[in-house]
Amino acid sequence: MIVVLKPNTKQEQLDHLKDWLHSLNIDTHISVGENHTIVGLVGDTSSIDMDLISALDIVETVKRIQEPFKNANRKFHETDAVVDVSGVKIGGGHFQIIAGPCSVESREQVTYIAQRVKESGAGMLRGGAFKPRTSPYSFQGLHDEGIKLLLEAKKQTGLPIVSEIMNSEHIPLFEDVDLVQVGARNMQNFELLKELGKTRKPILLKRGLANTIDELLMSAEYIMAGGNENVILCERGIRTFETRTRNTLDLSAIPVLKKLTHLPIVIDPSHAGGYAYLVKPMALAATAAGADGLMIEVHNDPAKALCDGPQSLTPEAFDEVANLVFQIRPYACKYDEK
Ligand code: PEP
Ligand code: MN
Repeated sequence: MIVVLKPNTKQEQLDHLKDWLHSLNIDTHISVGENHTIVGLVGDTSSIDMDLISALDIVETVKRIQEPFKNANRKFHETDAVVDVSGVKIGGGHFQIIAGPCSVESREQVTYIAQRVKESGAGMLRGGAFKPRTSPYSFQGLHDEGIKLLLEAKKQTGLPIVSEIMNSEHIPLFEDVDLVQVGARNMQNFELLKELGKTRKPILLKRGLANTIDELLMSAEYIMAGGNENVILCERGIRTFETRTRNTLDLSAIPVLKKLTHLPIVIDPSHAGGYAYLVKPMALAATAAGADGLMIEVHNDPAKALCDGPQSLTPEAFDEVANLVFQIRPYACKYDEK
């Protein structure tokens, strides 16, 4: 961090600033110019509040040169993280497709879909038990019963299960859920993130509808600061002025995130586009761009789905997409510092 002081700053005021920074374990490097004095902050400045420094009387400008996230920062972890989800690895060259229904609806539905997506090569089964719906009158999920049905499907297929948590009080209910999803709407539910940071569960953290990449990384930091390093990031489309698609898939988030963080990155083309016909092209593009995995919604009868039918693939359509994805995966872009 570089702090430019206003002209006429008194030595006594500078000493005061230096003492305060030293008390925070930050070293200072002072450079006195003709008009301005510049203070370079040396050390880990991730916990320094930039706004607090800008607000000081003697400060003209402040510039961060080190990102405020540390645990999620590639600068401190050069090699890609590999997250192990009950034996299924993702990241660092391991690629996975997570597939399944938006919501768990019945035993037959989730078990059938689980079998079909497994046959097509999916490595994990998704299914919402607690659904964050825009309307309180829409289907809210089967709750505990939904988790139970997912566990039955896991028993039959061996696929690790992925489900969304909305409330930290539910953490005990998710004990056997292999990958706990934090949905877009909860990306900045910091109390939930802190509680998940105390666990050692793998977490799939989805980017918020209107959040920047840096905010996504700061949310990952919340989980990791608690000691839980098992974080997988997910880009699922952001809100833009475009109305032809449910959201706009930010494909450039893949190389940008690869540069900034060592954490695995999953793309969800289903929620990004909102329509089944968009899933194949977006899944292929995301794979080619270097995503570590995909999350795709699959339903046995999309027209009758209780949630997100229009964006759900049939098992047959999923099979075709998965096949193509695995074919192009060997040619995918790799993270390149240059
Ligand atoms: C989901 O995965 O079912 C979901 C609700 O996703 P998002 O949080 O990305 O909207
Ligand atoms: Mn959905």
